[in-house]
Amino acid sequence: MTTSTRAIGAHGPGRPLEPLEITRRELRNDDIQIAIQFAGVCHSDIHTMNGDWGERQWPLAPGHEIVGIVSAVGSSVTAFTVGDRVGVGCFVNSCGECDPCSQGEISYCERGAVGTYGDVDRFSDGEYTQGGYSRSIVVRESFVLRIPDGLDPAGAAPLLCAGITTYSPLRHWNVGPGSRVAVVGMGGLGHVGVKIALAMGAEVTVFSHSDRKRDDALAYGAKDLIATRDGLPRELRKHFDFILNTVSADIDINAYLGLLRFDGTLVQLGLPGEPMKIRAGSVVNRRGSLAGSLVGGIRETQEMLDFCGEHGITADIELISADRINEAYERTVAADVRYRFVIDASTI
Ligand code: NAP
Ligand code: ZN
Repeated sequence: MTTSTRAIGAHGPGRPLEPLEITRRELRNDDIQIAIQFAGVCHSDIHTMNGDWGERQWPLAPGHEIVGIVSAVGSSVTAFTVGDRVGVGCFVNSCGECDPCSQGEISYCERGAVGTYGDVDRFSDGEYTQGGYSRSIVVRESFVLRIPDGLDPAGAAPLLCAGITTYSPLRHWNVGPGSRVAVVGMGGLGHVGVKIALAMGAEVTVFSHSDRKRDDALAYGAKDLIATRDGLPRELRKHFDFILNTVSADIDINAYLGLLRFDGTLVQLGLPGEPMKIRAGSVVNRRGSLAGSLVGGIRETQEMLDFCGEHGITADIELISADRINEAYERTVAADVRYRFVIDASTI
């Protein structure tokens, strides 16, 4: 028997978000039921709800930056008990058998990891997933994360996507002391990426489309913030070992590839709907690499949470009630949020 729970979502692409009733499956042996406390608002939610990434089933409640308290566990669950503070990120299932899955890299599951919302759970009941802008959720134990005690739970919610999505490539490309890192776009992903790269010991420069976020970037410990409206400074050509592009819109990536040193790497994280145009010379000239990275695995997400626990890293957030969600979407698109909206789920 399914249970019904309150949520906020939309009845079609581009439609405003409004209160919904959604259903959650009956607890299976390896399932955990979570009473959601906080849900972050990721730009991916906005892309999905706008229809930028293709067809979805409607109505749909988004949300994949979820923090809450375990409210029930299935009969075979051993790792969690009622009352634990836990998180759920971008994925709730994967095949568990392909190469990436066997390495713990479930986001690259060859049969397609199951998104926390707007996806068919093709590895279990074939149900359509509904996300974290909701009062409760049921998730397989192996996709549930533990939130370190010292972290503010509302500020920790965005780590479940923004945190792991930036941590994973920084780790994979061995960023650390001596690395010169550029973070392009200081929004939800970007500002967490800046904090994590600094905690790993890198020198970090922020590229932002205006000067408005300069004081915050410097307060985090960044070396500088470059306002990009007037173009990129010539003196930073061939300067960076590693660039994270977190911009949600289509920007001239060639200009940023020009900032890479010999053998440097630019990792694309932003997912605008339009195709990117790359000039061959932008990568050929410096043996540069243009790479991409998708979220991160469950084990690595736990590692990231523990790292953030040790370094006291959370997102800077604006906590909102559910009725402000449409305003929050508009302000996120306008890059007018410091730096992540988080929904107080008790208001849903
Ligand atoms: P966000 O909070 O809206 O931040 C995006 C930032 O990009 C803005 O704060 C702004 O930074 C900059 N920006 C936005 N529009 C711009 C424009 N027209 N020109 C130049 N700069 C612009 O978004 P987010 O939640 O961090 O997500 C960023 C992107 O990553 C989205 O496309 C999202 O779907 C994607 N994403 C990817 C993954 C993955 O696994 N690869 C995971 C999560 C999200 P400034 O004000 O500093 O310029
Ligand atoms: Zn996200």
